[in-house]
Amino acid sequence: MKAYILDIDGVIFRGSEVIAGAPDAVNRLLDNARVVFLTNNSTQSRAAVSARLNASGIRCRESDMITAGYAAAVYIRKRYGTQKIYPIGETGLIHELKAEGHEIDPGGDGGMGADGGEDAVADFVVVGLDMDFTYEKLRIGLQNILAGAGLIATNTDPLLPVEHGFLPGAGAIVRALETASGRSAFVIGKPNPPMMDAVIDHLGLPAHECTLVGDRLETDILAGSRYGMKTVLVLSGVETAESVRQSRIKPDAVIGSIAEMQEIQHIA
Ligand SMILES: [Mg+2]
Repeated sequence: MKAYILDIDGVIFRGSEVIAGAPDAVNRLLDNARVVFLTNNSTQSRAAVSARLNASGIRCRESDMITAGYAAAVYIRKRYGTQKIYPIGETGLIHELKAEGHEIDPGGDGGMGADGGEDAVADFVVVGLDMDFTYEKLRIGLQNILAGAGLIATNTDPLLPVEHGFLPGAGAIVRALETASGRSAFVIGKPNPPMMDAVIDHLGLPAHECTLVGDRLETDILAGSRYGMKTVLVLSGVETAESVRQSRIKPDAVIGSIAEMQEIQHIA
């Protein structure tokens, strides 16, 4: 049995646009192998990501989506049980945290009681990409961390590739909290073990039967190589031929986009 682990942003979509030829290429992989979708993006729920892929013509199921928001929610539940969480993130992150049974702290009083007591402190501050990030959220997150909450990041990608360029990624928001608190976040997303262990558990296959396809050397390709998977870099996202040449991280194959996957089936 072979399996493909596909990144989404920069591989299948660029912003809201589908990358040319991607749906057909993914459906061809689905004809012959298992396919799991692995994204550091925590802004959408697994159901929303699956629906978006379905709308582009890709035959996939919600159960084959692993987002960093979902992986964070599962990691916290398995390791600590259900917890009280102050999220800095979008609806997808909050949905997955609730789905695993965690309590969401609305953070209205900065995690501190009106009398300055600590009765309302969250167990964890969980940070993902939040396009409505504000100084107030930073302040509340900091108050919770100073009062003893753990700091968990869904991912630390510096950039999000969109249609005509890049937006700041979750990593920029995580850094703001790290800088203010003097603490380092525990990071769930690729290339870190919680996300990779989640996908290996899900597939139940040895890593050498898996091919990871992604657009970022420092997350996708590094993660796949560390785990002994075959790795394919697509140039439809953040990397360029020049950045590949300059990197110490070497994918097994480099292609323009996932539409060219058929031409390199020999490696996988
Ligand atoms: Mg990507």
